Amino acid sequence: MDYNESPGIDLHIHSNASDGTCSPAEILILAQRLKLRAISITDHDSIDGAREALALGIPESLGFLTGVEISAAPPFPGCVGSFHVLGYGIRPDDPVLNKTLEVQRAARDNRNPMIVERLREMGMEISLEEIRAETGDGQVGRPHIARRMVKLGIVGSIDEAFDKHLAAGKPAYVDKPRVECRRAIDIIRNAGGVPVLAHPILLTTPPGKSLEDLIIHLKEMGLKGMEVYYPEHPPEASARFESMAERHGLLMTGGTDFHGAIKPDIAMGSGAGDLHVPFHLYETLVAAL
Ligand code: AMP
Ligand code: ZN
Ligand code: FE
Ligand code: FE
Repeated sequence: MDYNESPGIDLHIHSNASDGTCSPAEILILAQRLKLRAISITDHDSIDGAREALALGIPESLGFLTGVEISAAPPFPGCVGSFHVLGYGIRPDDPVLNKTLEVQRAARDNRNPMIVERLREMGMEISLEEIRAETGDGQVGRPHIARRMVKLGIVGSIDEAFDKHLAAGKPAYVDKPRVECRRAIDIIRNAGGVPVLAHPILLTTPPGKSLEDLIIHLKEMGLKGMEVYYPEHPPEASARFESMAERHGLLMTGGTDFHGAIKPDIAMGSGAGDLHVPFHLYETLVAAL
């Protein structure tokens, strides 16, 4: 079978338990329709989506791993960008993991009114109640605020909302407390899971520190893997991350960061259209659990 034709996997999917727009049921249906061989639901600071998928029953043809994506604090200062730790194969009922995620969700909840207040101070007529009404039971995050800004005609796109207002350093940005990365790694491991550094391309290390220094440091803390395949990783970046993972004995994972309509250019299983994550990575990951 041609490499690109063989069914792949997607180990980075957001449901409506965080800022994706598909329910876990819809994700399972879509994964089957796309003939994916394995998926993981990795919501921001929540395992509700993964738990719901398990409760619905995973189709026999589909491999499934519980997952989570924890917003963590990098191990040294001056590291900028999205420092996210993915956890695969975690026990959904682990009490310490659940308690930690609850605290993180509360932090996001506390910050949303502050973001909306800043936008209002800038003259935008936006309300959190309307945003909540569109979100349902899942967590509200910046993408939901951005989506509302698009609907109100304040900006032309979600990306524009981030670029002009919501991204770090922009006028309506409000920081939120993060889990120390050592702790994120520990709680994932203690919940029976494998901790993986998400989308390394989105990280910028401070002068004098390379990404490889960061990886070595995280490995010493117990990191087990690296997300090597990701829509925003050009082939040369994936190749660089592959050899880095090999050098440091880390597992390799990959996924699209599918968010449904909130990231309309990213499709489940194929990202911007050309991502292919091979099934053997799933088998190796499962074997490591
Ligand atoms: P929050 O959890 O509220 O901090 O929001 C994080 C989410 O915002 C992640 O899912 C990202 O995909 C999304 N996000 C972060 N930065 C950007 C950006 N510059 N453009 C579009 N989406 C972004
Ligand atoms: Zn997200
Ligand atoms: Fe992320
Ligand atoms: Fe993500």
